[in-house]
Amino acid sequence: MHNPDLKKWLPPDRYKHSLRVEKVAVKLAEHYGISKEKAAAAALLHDCGRYTKGEKLVSEAKKLGLKVSEIERFQPKLLHARIGAIIARKVFRVKDKEILSAISKHTVGSENMSMLEKIVYIADHIESDRRFKGVEKIRRHAFSNIDRAIAESTSLMINKLLAKGFPISEQTVRTRNYYLGINNAK
Ligand code: FE
Ligand code: FE
Repeated sequence: MHNPDLKKWLPPDRYKHSLRVEKVAVKLAEHYGISKEKAAAAALLHDCGRYTKGEKLVSEAKKLGLKVSEIERFQPKLLHARIGAIIARKVFRVKDKEILSAISKHTVGSENMSMLEKIVYIADHIESDRRFKGVEKIRRHAFSNIDRAIAESTSLMINKLLAKGFPISEQTVRTRNYYLGINNAK
């Protein structure tokens, strides 16, 4: 892992956040019996697409050959996950497809995620500095029922977006519905 490079690559706060995500992702990987090394790499690099923001993310995305959707144009931050997967491959030389996919999906999630993808997704929400209302419950669920933790995280995220009057990514809704469905079936 090119850890020192990432430190230079990201703004200091974002780098520190990445280290905290790595810490809890490794714990989750251990808990669920998947590769700690892969979880560490994916978590550490999950936000490597946040080296720039706003409109610049849109132009970066286009430069990297990504198709920018309407909602991504409205909320360029959404693009950092897909940009991050490309940067992880090109700049940080990550070849592992599972790691790249976990980076790519960490913001809006996806239906039927792999355990690595779920871990990076949820670790981002529950890292030690997250203090939003409801985080403790999600922290607990992350280790007992990660699907439920994902459903609750997406619900909270959607609530926040609604309160601000922001649009909601259709994929976030699909992710929530999928993981709610799984929980209902149990
Ligand atoms: Fe992110
Ligand atoms: Fe993050």
